[in-house]
Amino acid sequence: MILTWVLIGFLALAAGITIRWVPRRFDGLGRARPFPRISVTLCLVVVVACAVPLWTHARLESRLERAASAVAGGPVTVHCQTFGQAFVDLGPELGWVRWGADGVPERSTLIKREPCGDLKAWLGSSKDAPTLDQVIAVHILTHETMHMVGLKNESQAECAAIQRDASMAVALGATPAQGQALARRYWTEAYPRVRPEYANGCGAGGTYDEGLDAPPWADAG
Ligand SMILES: [Zn+2]
Repeated sequence: MILTWVLIGFLALAAGITIRWVPRRFDGLGRARPFPRISVTLCLVVVVACAVPLWTHARLESRLERAASAVAGGPVTVHCQTFGQAFVDLGPELGWVRWGADGVPERSTLIKREPCGDLKAWLGSSKDAPTLDQVIAVHILTHETMHMVGLKNESQAECAAIQRDASMAVALGATPAQGQALARRYWTEAYPRVRPEYANGCGAGGTYDEGLDAPPWADAG
């Protein structure tokens, strides 16, 4: 957001300098005045320097959004927290979905800056050896997607996500084997450490076992 305003400001400045020069192209004696190309170029350098990260951010969001929409079975919106938003945000959660006045979760989520960075790093990697933070970041996207399709109970959303982490990874470009391995790692390494309100009724035969093909506990031993 800060970058957007800086970009707009310098673009306006470049336009202003140019517009100001146009009626004064010639001096009183009819001699041409040079275009203020150094100032305008400097403004445009700042514009490009702002546009590149904005574009990268938008591209990451649209990639996450496409995958989340595929797993959700309908269009959802995904936002990655920007630097400015992260600066003023002290909440401990890694992502969230707002619930509307009618009590229905919105089909839009905000993912915190750190997991978004981990998702970006994972997307740019071979996906063969993700860090645990990257595994958790993919899962956060799946978990928030489960809220967006209407699950409000944390244990249920968590378990539904655990059963769809492999699909999410594949929707994000992983191979089926990489997706299965990622889902298994979340189940064996991260899930045992989640807070108690997230940790009920998951696993073979549990309340939230949906009986889907190849759940992460199937091969986990
Ligand atoms: Zn949740």
